[in-house]
Amino acid sequence: MALLHTAPLPSSSPHSKIHLPAFTSGSLSLVLSPSALHNNIKQRRRSSRRVVASASDAAAGSAGTARPNTPASPPKLRILIAGGGIGGLVFALAAKRKGFDVLVFEKDVSAIRGEGQYRGPIQIQSNALAALEAIDPEVAEEVMEAGCITGDRINGLVDGISGTWYIKFDTFTPAVERGLPVTRVISRMTLQEILARAVGADVIVNDSTVVDFTEDGDRVTVILENGQRYEGDLLVGADGIWSKVRKILFGATEASYSGYTCYTGIADFVPPDIETVGYRVFLGHKQYFVSSDVGAGKMQWYAFHKEPPGGTDAPNGRKERLLKIFGGWCDNVIDLLVATNEDAILRRDIYDRVPIMSWGRGRVTLLGDSVHAMQPNMGQGGCMAIEDSYQLALELEKAWIESARTGAPIDITSPLKRYENERRLRVAIVYGMARMAAIMASTYRPYLGVGLGPLSFLTKFRIPHPGKVGGRFFIKLAMPAMLSWVLGGNSSKLEGRSLSCRLSDRASDQLQRWFKDDDALERALSGEWYLFPTNGSLQPIHLIKDEKMPIIIGNQSHADMPGVSVVLPSPEVADIHACISCKENAFFLTNMQSQYGTWIIDNEGRRYLVPPNFSVRFHPSNVIEFGSDKKAIFRVKVLKTLPENLTGEGRQILQAA
Ligand SMILES: Cc1cc2nc3c(=O)[nH]c(=O)nc-3n(C[C@H](O)[C@H](O)[C@H](O)COP(=O)(O)OP(=O)(O)OC[C@H]3O[C@@H](n4cnc5c(N)ncnc54)[C@H](O)[C@@H]3O)c2cc1C
Repeated sequence: MALLHTAPLPSSSPHSKIHLPAFTSGSLSLVLSPSALHNNIKQRRRSSRRVVASASDAAAGSAGTARPNTPASPPKLRILIAGGGIGGLVFALAAKRKGFDVLVFEKDVSAIRGEGQYRGPIQIQSNALAALEAIDPEVAEEVMEAGCITGDRINGLVDGISGTWYIKFDTFTPAVERGLPVTRVISRMTLQEILARAVGADVIVNDSTVVDFTEDGDRVTVILENGQRYEGDLLVGADGIWSKVRKILFGATEASYSGYTCYTGIADFVPPDIETVGYRVFLGHKQYFVSSDVGAGKMQWYAFHKEPPGGTDAPNGRKERLLKIFGGWCDNVIDLLVATNEDAILRRDIYDRVPIMSWGRGRVTLLGDSVHAMQPNMGQGGCMAIEDSYQLALELEKAWIESARTGAPIDITSPLKRYENERRLRVAIVYGMARMAAIMASTYRPYLGVGLGPLSFLTKFRIPHPGKVGGRFFIKLAMPAMLSWVLGGNSSKLEGRSLSCRLSDRASDQLQRWFKDDDALERALSGEWYLFPTNGSLQPIHLIKDEKMPIIIGNQSHADMPGVSVVLPSPEVADIHACISCKENAFFLTNMQSQYGTWIIDNEGRRYLVPPNFSVRFHPSNVIEFGSDKKAIFRVKVLKTLPENLTGEGRQILQAA
């Protein structure tokens, strides 16, 4: 028979934010039968471990029905979980839904909240959302409601300097083809709150750092820093990359430094392509930048820079450093950095852990980052922890059912082994992909000469690097299969989840066109177009989209001409210098036979003379020079909202309308 839960439930720690039960081991020894014991403990916890947070057992019981113990069935297991991060909480939920008795020891719930601030929102991709649905459809629904859908738009890689698309990823099609939810981004704090509420705060023992455990025949005892001990049938180490449980199991090993430090920030900024682009990775040499819509008018970004670990920044020096490191990168990057407050910028060095063959021993196993911490480049670390949680709870349930069927004592070690066998390969592949993505990002060279020391003068010829061209070819070939496997490769293992998509998970009917056609994607920009002067003496110009109202640029007003006259008092701006017109949300520039000339500098730094009387298309982030004396130079920008410094009193935008 399975063991009885005779663990002393210790009294409340003075530091605990969650009140522990006041009864002692003696009170538990009165329990007579295993099943009664199970229910008794549950009841007592409910009544006595009322918690700070808005713990709601109603919510906890809202989905999935715990299999009731019958006199003939073995008692449900008592599962101890070290760590209440994403992995620990999702596993607690999954195990609870299977009817198991769970206790989560979290060293500091508020630290997770802090961690939430550090890491910002998290992308929960289709594979993990589907696993969450299989665990608890109502909780999954809540997460999906709270999240911001990014998988219904274009995601992918762009060149960091020019901002031009390198590869676009279709994460929508693999999801809907397999009846999976579409990828979302959600605030870590919101996710934690939803999970903690569903688990029931009586299950989470806060301020409890696991420092040791012992295994003794048919039970495992967890020892907390404050000396308290808890017994259970098994222990799951979900205590993250620096896992204590892992260390005790397998000895201390160093985590591997990725080579990158990572700055993160959240900006109140809505880019003009918000309706068409979800997340984007800006590639560079030994540095890369990731931006993602996280909803509510905010963008999250990560800036990776190759350097030794342990670096620090001068007080209030992060933004300045980033603007230096990413100086010369495209506007999408610079705009985000500029729009972020210094105190919203955080920094961490990125580590991972090479996956190990064995995930546990005896009645102890590992889950999530504690066993397979990976680099964040695939956005799959937390997702893998969610998949782990589903699988582990399933294997334990199977063992329990088998025990109930045969009447034999429940076997703990076999389901733990089955769990790691089911997970090991998939996790190792995703881990490898995350590493490969970092290697790709760090070896990316847009042009010949980049990173070549004395030969770096070659970059000025803008010759595409052969590695870039070849890499693109291979990624394009491999990406659809890879995405399909990452997002959908686990779905056949999920039991009890209907293959269906939400009506809300619809993409624009233009999505497939945007994948193929960069021009269509640019024309779908929803912001206003401006010309911003690069020196202080001129005013910005707002370009109107009215196709019948061309803008005449000249050094004096031309009210008599059709369209709108914009005056640029500059020595080399002619009387009637140039004309700007709009057609189907694209802008064109014509040089009106000005003797001084008009130039466009494209996003790769090439400078073109605009031929007379010939319309030339220009693009966001291009630079336009009216005349050759560098006195009237403007940068083309498309914005949803104007920066604050341009909306204040006394400021003026030359309204070309
Ligand atoms: C910059 C960045 C961006 C990322 N973006 C994504 C993304 O978009 N999508 C994604 O899926 N993943 C992402 N990840 C990875 C993801 O954050 C992790 O994989 C995930 O948090 C792992 O969850 P976990 O529960 O295993 O570990 P953690 O989230 O680290 O949780 C471990 C918990 O254990 C607690 N703990 C530690 N030691 C003890 C102890 N001795 N006793 C008690 N409690 C203890 C900690 O306080 C913590 O709450 C990102 C990671 C980084 C660094």
